[in-house]
Amino acid sequence: MRLSRYFLPVLKETPAEAQIASHRLMLRAGMIKQASAGIYSWLPLGFRVLKNIERIVHEEQQAAGHIPMLMPTLQPADLWKESGRYDAYGPEMLRIRDRQDRDMLYGPTNEEMITDIFRSHVSSYRDLPLTLYHVQWKFRDEMRPRFGVMRGREFYMKDGYNFDVDRDAALHAYNRHMVSYLKTYERMGLQAIPMRADSGPIGGDDTHEFLVLADTGESEVFYDAAITELKFGDRVVDYDDVDACRAIVDEWTAPYARTDETHDAAKFDAVPEDRRRTSRGIEVGQIFYFGTKYSDAMGATVTNKDGEVVPVHMGSHGIGVSRLVGAIIEASHDDNGIIWPEGVTPFHCGIVNLRQGDTDCDAACALIEGSLIAKGLDPLYDDRDERAGAKFATMDLIGLPWRITVGPRGLKNGLVELTSRRTGESEEMTVEAAIDRVG
Ligand code: ATP
Ligand code: MG
Ligand code: MG
Ligand code: MG
Repeated sequence: MRLSRYFLPVLKETPAEAQIASHRLMLRAGMIKQASAGIYSWLPLGFRVLKNIERIVHEEQQAAGHIPMLMPTLQPADLWKESGRYDAYGPEMLRIRDRQDRDMLYGPTNEEMITDIFRSHVSSYRDLPLTLYHVQWKFRDEMRPRFGVMRGREFYMKDGYNFDVDRDAALHAYNRHMVSYLKTYERMGLQAIPMRADSGPIGGDDTHEFLVLADTGESEVFYDAAITELKFGDRVVDYDDVDACRAIVDEWTAPYARTDETHDAAKFDAVPEDRRRTSRGIEVGQIFYFGTKYSDAMGATVTNKDGEVVPVHMGSHGIGVSRLVGAIIEASHDDNGIIWPEGVTPFHCGIVNLRQGDTDCDAACALIEGSLIAKGLDPLYDDRDERAGAKFATMDLIGLPWRITVGPRGLKNGLVELTSRRTGESEEMTVEAAIDRVG
């Protein structure tokens, strides 16, 4: 992509309405534009990051055997009246009436709709296990939308639903989700810690939230520092292997890690003092086993091996795709701008031409651009007629992992400069070496 032809409306001024770094940086880097409170347009740069996050989510869900689909944003109220949540959900639900006077709503989540799909088509244990998911816009009329996309009203969420014949099978689905989420967040360059969460009125203890540690997080968290040492790495998981999945879940749930909702001071005190940590966290996902809550209410049953008709066991599992854009920035930025992890970066490498219009510089930049594209990478070439300082500031702000700077002086000796956004270190090298090092 050439910057002269792109749409990157960066702001020079720091927007006054933004209280936290990620919101400020997303506005300054021209990633989003507010349409109304808690509702945003995703401008091209932001859209790229959103789609990269979504792609990782899809890849890891499908690796775990979960099946993608798409449900609508607008739902009939009838389904929610069946489950009893139409009244219970309260003012967070955006209620709409269509021209036929039918009650509709903009979906805040999809348990009812997926249960309705399931009961219409599945009636035997032979069709289980089954996990369906989608990535779709949700609407919750939050009391206090704030922090940009972090707490929006309209937001993009992956929500998945497992259907299993009994509790044990559903708990394996729960474990499968935890494992796939650990891998998903790590691929985004994030450490998201699974923490025992409050299951609310549903009861039981089978719910975990995934939290990214950040001062600006809305949850207070308590954890054993040992959990931050755990790495998923490049383990290969067999998602059908019940014991292998459980072993990974055991590893991550052994150290103490809870949000304020479930915090147990006595248990926390049992953690060696030098490892006790209190901090704040951003919730970027949650997994939930809730048994037969919806299948009982909505009559979603299957016949089991013995020919008995039983309610199906379910769970739901969410990832905050749009919130993650903000959470990643909270976890990875400096005074000059964003520092994208490789896995989600909107472009892999910036190319800065210090003398636009100079035949040699233009040719070298075009060569670098073409070579990176040939390697399957996405470069952003700043080919504008701008001062070097302005070009560097833009590159630092938008946070691409690498920058290749091409100027007439270096080029005389066949050299360009490669700069790492994360370390700030620059190195002179040949064009070929620079292309080689990126990606
Ligand atoms: P929160 O506690 O932040 O209100 P939640 O517990 O109500 O979130 P869930 O129902 O668990 O949210 O939804 C799954 C995920 O969707 C959350 O973990 C979060 O990452 C994301 N999410 C929820 N509400 C919002 C929102 N208003 N804006 C952006 N993302 C959200
Ligand atoms: Mg909420
Ligand atoms: Mg929550
Ligand atoms: Mg939650």
